[in-house]
Amino acid sequence: MTTDCIFCNIANGKTDTEFLFENETLVVFKDIKPHAPVHLLLVPKKHIRSINDLTSVDDAIVSSLISAGKHMANEVGIAASGYKLVFNVEQGGGQVIFHLHLHLLGGWKR
Ligand code: 5GP
Ligand code: ZN
Repeated sequence: MTTDCIFCNIANGKTDTEFLFENETLVVFKDIKPHAPVHLLLVPKKHIRSINDLTSVDDAIVSSLISAGKHMANEVGIAASGYKLVFNVEQGGGQVIFHLHLHLLGGWKR
């Protein structure tokens, strides 16, 4: 945990952010500025800066993030209609919070 990292603070329960899901590896909460009707963030409790910083010891975390994305899509009712799972990587990739997170986006009307 890095105390000056907002997602470390959220993921470790130091804020009043409501979790839609939590397990030993990660937490899930709503994006504060949603870019879709459903916009959740899946955030590992371990501080990892970005996809670029992953090593093989983090394989289980990456797997858990994707599994949780699938699970949450089902939970919020967008699995059948479809959704996006997005990692923004570093500034050029649109990342602004430098603590790894997976975006779950969906719920658009067709
Ligand atoms: P990035 O661009 O780094 O991939 O995405 C960061 C996301 O975190 C943005 O969509 C932004 O709206 C969201 N965000 C930033 N700060 C907070 C916060 O304090 N609480 C919540 N719930 N979302 C945040
Ligand atoms: Zn962090």
